Amino acid sequence: MAQRDYYDILGVNRGASADEIKSAYRKLAMKYHPDRNPDDADAETRFKEAAQAYDVLSDPDKRARYDQFGEAGLGGQGGGSYSNVNDIFSAFGDIFGQSMFGDMFGGGRSRGRRSRKEPGADLRVRLELTLEEIASGVDKTIKIRHYKSCTGCSGSGAGSDAGYTTCSACQGSGEVRQVSRSVFGQFINIAPCAQCSGSGEILRDRCTVCDGEGRVEGETSVKVTIPAGVRTGNYLSVTGKGHAGRRGGEAGDAIVVIEEAEHEHFVRHDDDVTYPLLIDMLTATLGGSVHVPTLTGSAEIDIDPGTQPGSTLRMKGKGIPHLNSRGSGDQLVEINVSIPTKLTGEERRTLEALRTSKNFRSPDERSGSSLFSRFKEALS
Ligand SMILES: [Zn+2]
Ligand SMILES: [Zn+2]
Repeated sequence: MAQRDYYDILGVNRGASADEIKSAYRKLAMKYHPDRNPDDADAETRFKEAAQAYDVLSDPDKRARYDQFGEAGLGGQGGGSYSNVNDIFSAFGDIFGQSMFGDMFGGGRSRGRRSRKEPGADLRVRLELTLEEIASGVDKTIKIRHYKSCTGCSGSGAGSDAGYTTCSACQGSGEVRQVSRSVFGQFINIAPCAQCSGSGEILRDRCTVCDGEGRVEGETSVKVTIPAGVRTGNYLSVTGKGHAGRRGGEAGDAIVVIEEAEHEHFVRHDDDVTYPLLIDMLTATLGGSVHVPTLTGSAEIDIDPGTQPGSTLRMKGKGIPHLNSRGSGDQLVEINVSIPTKLTGEERRTLEALRTSKNFRSPDERSGSSLFSRFKEALS
């Protein structure tokens, strides 16, 4: 397809001056700008075409070769081919003038002034809780070491009302412009002002308490309410109790991370807990009722006659409350049986009398098919 003539595209005659070419391009670019013609493929094509024409005709060298030889004179390096409209902006953006861009296209291209305020960081605090505390829920007061807002300057960092003055390097804009030239024309780079770090303000009169930082190291006591049922790794955020921001910036949050302490007796499985209970030989045999410690006190459980070591009793609802739903886990009681190790003469005689009693012999011995009796057979 034949390339349209660059002069025709811009609508200028062949003797047009550099200013006339620039002005013609600018008008077309405004007219066909993608922001003003959303989803209009034809406008976008014209926008790119105009940029391509301007690329050649704004460069005296390229323009001379184009005048003499046409498109061929450019040897394939003619008008820049712009597939992306943002490339056009980076190449020719300056001719629109920054202010016009700002006004016409929402100003989104300008970085603008940075705040002198810097937000404070969040802070992680470890909070170790016992299983008892987790089972009941608990209020805790924790000490947080962090940056606090300086009371000497209310956090601004300024030593007096006149502490901040407008930066002379950037006149308060927070930006400096650097102009450079290239084959594509003039570039303007906008960089944050080094003198004021982009804030546009210079601190002349520092607060002596914080040396202009607006914050000092300190310690704060924070009360937190821990709901029942939390576990290791759960956390809660205390808004604004992290590090204070620099020079009046917003404070970060304190993130309180729960850690469950190991318990001497109880072991947690989700919201159930197990407790190993040692009962005496007679209660295991005859049955009875015993007190069992729980995470919130103690409870009585019934032991059935003939309860075996290694069996598990379930105490409904005596475990840890569910964090996100109603109800609680269970307490599982793992039964073990205590065997007496010291006997009086009378106790010994009483038990000896039961030795020959069939019900006091182990099922293995009674059946005659136990490992023990087979072992005895093998020996005889
Ligand atoms: Zn201060
Ligand atoms: Zn500045």
